[in-house]
Formats: sequence, structure tokens, C-alpha cells
Amino acid sequence: MIVILGGGPAGRIASIRLASAGKDVQLIEAGGIGGQCLHFGCMPVCALNDIARFLHSSRIFHNLRIVDTIPEISFSAIFSEMNAIQEKIASVLDTETRSAGVKIIYGKIGRLEGKTVFIGDEPMDAEAVIAATGSRPNIPDIEGIDLDGVYTPHTLPGMKKLPKKLAIIGGGVMAAEFAYIFDMFGSEVTIFSRSTFLKNTDRHLRSLAIKELEGVEICENACVRSISGSSRIQSVCVKTDEKDISIDVDATLVAAGLIPRSEMLKGVKKGSIGEVVVDCQMQTSVAGVYACGDVTGPPYLTPVARYQGVIAADAILKKPRTMDMRYIPQSINLAHELAFCTVETEGAGSIVIPGPAGPGTFWSVPQGDTGLAKVLFDSDNGALRGFCTAGPGGGLIAGYMAFLMKRHFSVHDFDEFVEVHPSTDGIYGLLKYTSDILKKRSGN
Ligand SMILES: Cc1cc2nc3c(=O)[nH]c(=O)nc-3n(C[C@H](O)[C@H](O)[C@H](O)COP(=O)(O)OP(=O)(O)OC[C@H]3O[C@@H](n4cnc5c(N)ncnc54)[C@H](O)[C@@H]3O)c2cc1C
Repeated sequence: MIVILGGGPAGRIASIRLASAGKDVQLIEAGGIGGQCLHFGCMPVCALNDIARFLHSSRIFHNLRIVDTIPEISFSAIFSEMNAIQEKIASVLDTETRSAGVKIIYGKIGRLEGKTVFIGDEPMDAEAVIAATGSRPNIPDIEGIDLDGVYTPHTLPGMKKLPKKLAIIGGGVMAAEFAYIFDMFGSEVTIFSRSTFLKNTDRHLRSLAIKELEGVEICENACVRSISGSSRIQSVCVKTDEKDISIDVDATLVAAGLIPRSEMLKGVKKGSIGEVVVDCQMQTSVAGVYACGDVTGPPYLTPVARYQGVIAADAILKKPRTMDMRYIPQSINLAHELAFCTVETEGAGSIVIPGPAGPGTFWSVPQGDTGLAKVLFDSDNGALRGFCTAGPGGGLIAGYMAFLMKRHFSVHDFDEFVEVHPSTDGIYGLLKYTSDILKKRSGN
């Protein structure tokens, strides 16, 4: 028997792969199948962002006198309706997983002591174990963080009223995405970022993100020192470069990243943030124990978790393959999908252009917000080293582009590419243009 701890993207995909290969698989899930992605992460953000973009578009159409009113949201309906859909998706995932032959045990906590896996207090006789226990929100050690009115992505569905004033602690993708959502919903949002906001993001995408968050106050190098209130949050005290400030808020959202959930995994080697250390086949320091997904540390992305689940399963099936982490596309979902994948920026040439008018951007032409396309390339041979694409469908484009980069495509390979029109795929035209420039430069 193979025991898998955690039914999130990593554990579930591993379980299906192993059961489909004829293995006896027990999947232990303490909460809901689908993990953080379905219950607290990607799906809720996507659900809330759909509403935010709808409100955003309504405002654009209203300003152009095309629609009479901007709809009001009924905040209380959002989480209950969202939850019903999440349950529906969970039941599809449950059926799909069981149909593959996986036995699922819900509501039990699994743990490891070396090679021995326990379900509750009961040791199991397992031929191999996969730890896919995921991650949890990183909660900074701030006085008052436990006050009522302080939320994380996990507790957000408990928010009963739209806050008038919302403080967001964090300066990464998660903070940016929630800031856009609450800004569009009508809250007055302030981001407190301990360092530079979106500091690991390409500078053109970062500028675009800041433009799309123009209604949000972004305080950089701002360290939240304490959260005050008698029973409920009333204010946050922040140390900035210049001074200490206190601002009144109705709620705070802690969106300061994720940390591996590994405290129940004893005996395996871990790194400085508790991430389980694995080799390129997801094998831990204990023979027969594998780990995959967020529990192994960043980048904390569902496709990476799934991919690692497949690799762990294949290692158990003695069909080893290795994980290549170089070509991982990512996105930041604001008004547009700001998507990117960069492999090597050092010494690379780059060209950036505004996104074209098309579906989802036509009515944004007056505001000059049609997104952008950017390519990074080797000026000698045109090899693609990275790209950014921001616009509707940016995430879809990025997945394919990253795959082509992995296949070592150069900008010249796009000479024969025929795009769909109208669409917002500015990147393909830009690749052809870049190819022409490089050819002219080299006299070809
Ligand atoms: C707000 C937010 C937004 C996000 N947005 C995106 C996005 O846009 N794109 C993207 O790719 N990723 C996104 N992510 C990250 C994504 O959700 C994770 O990378 C992904 O869910 C990781 O999958 P996993 O299977 O490793 O872990 P998880 O999804 O965390 O699943 C782990 C599972 O293990 C269970 N578990 C934990 N401990 C035990 C135990 N001891 N016994 C039994 N079961 C246990 C948990 O209940 C959970 O179901 C987001 C995350 C958050 C929080």
C-alpha cells in the first residue's frame, strides 16, 4: 500500500497516477479535497477577481455612457455562493479520484516518524509514503494579529461585511491580487509592503501592476508593528522610512506569502523555513518517503505541485524522471493577466510594446490600459530568454510560450506563426518584429 498525506493538487495527482498504474493507494485528507488551491487560494481569488473585473468593466462602460448604472455588490452573497461552487468542484474531484481507484480517508491527520506513517495514532504498513501536506499562510509575528477583523486567505470567507478601510500586509502577488479585488469592490485599500512592492517582478509588469492599482495606496518599506483594538481591530501602527504612522482600518488581510506545512513530518530533513528537502525525483532524506508540492518550499504554484506529484509517483513506479524548474510560467491577476516566464535576463536584449486593442481591451483604449507584451532574447542568435504578456488571456499565452522556450524556440521560429485575430496576443507580433530587427542587424 502507498499512503499519501494531503489531497491538494500534489497529493491528488500523485494518487491518481499511482492508482491508475495498479497500486493500492490511500489518500489521507484532513480537510477538503483540492487543498488550498480549491478552498483558499487560486479558485477563491479567481472567483473574486471575476466580480472585480465585472465591476471594473461596468465603470468603464458607465464612464462612456454606455450603461446607466454601476452595479452594487451584495458582499454577503459572495462567499456563500462561492462555497456552494467549491463544494461542487470538490465532489467532482472526489469522484474523479475514487474512479481512478484511490481510497480517500477524510478528516484524519496523518503524520510521519521516519519511514513510519500514522493515521491518527494508528501506524500503517506502507511500501512508500508521499507527504503532500502543502503550505499555510505566513503569519508575521505582530502584536494584535489575533484580533477579530484580521484575516488571512484561509479565514477570509468569514468576513461578513465589506470593509470601508482595509489594510493589506504583504508586498507580493497575493497582496496585489487581493488589493485589486477589494479596490474594485469599493474598499479603501492600503498595502503595507516590508520592502519594494512586487520586488521580484519584471519592471515593466510591475509598473503596469501599479497603474492597475492606482486606487490603492501602496506603502513600501513599511513594517506593520502592531494592530490595535479592544475586541476588534481599529488601527494598524506602521514604521515607514520616514516616521511611525497609525491608520484607522476596519479590517486587515495578511497576504504575506506561504510557508510549508511540515510540522507533522518528523525524521525527514528540512530547510530553514521547514520545507522538506527533496532530490530531483522528490525523494526525501528517508528512503521510501517522498514529498511534493508546497511542503517542499517555493514557488508555491499549483502546476508545480501537480508536476511534482507526477514525478514522485513515477519515482515510486520506478520510471524516474526529473523536475525542470527553469520554465515555470506565472501570472498576477489584476485587471489583466500579467503573465511571465524569464529564464535569463543578464545581457539579454528586450523590446516592449503596448498590448493591442482586441477582445477585453477595446474599451480600455481611451485609458491607455491595453496591457503589454515584452520579449527578452539573445541578440546574437535570437534565442528566447523570457517574455511578459499582460492582457486578457495572458496566462494562456504564457503557458504555451514557456513550453516553446523549453523547446529552445528562438524569435526566428515565429516567422511562420499565424495568429488569431482579433485577439490580445501582442507577443506573437512582437516576436516577428524582433526577428526582423535581428535579421536586419546581422544583414540577413
Ligand atoms: C491566496 C492564494 C492564491 C493562490 N493563487 C495561485 C495561483 O493563482 N496560481 C497558482 O498556481 N497557485 C496559487 N496559489 C498556490 C496554490 O494554491 C498552491 O501552490 C497549491 O495548492 C499547492 O498544492 P499542494 O498539494 O502542494 O498543497 P495544498 O493545496 O496546501 O494541499 C495540501 C493538503 O494537505 C492537507 N493536509 C495538510 N496536513 C495534513 C495532514 N497532516 N494529514 C492529512 N492531510 C493534510 C490539507 O488539508 C490540504 O488539503 C495560491 C495560494 C493562495 C493561498
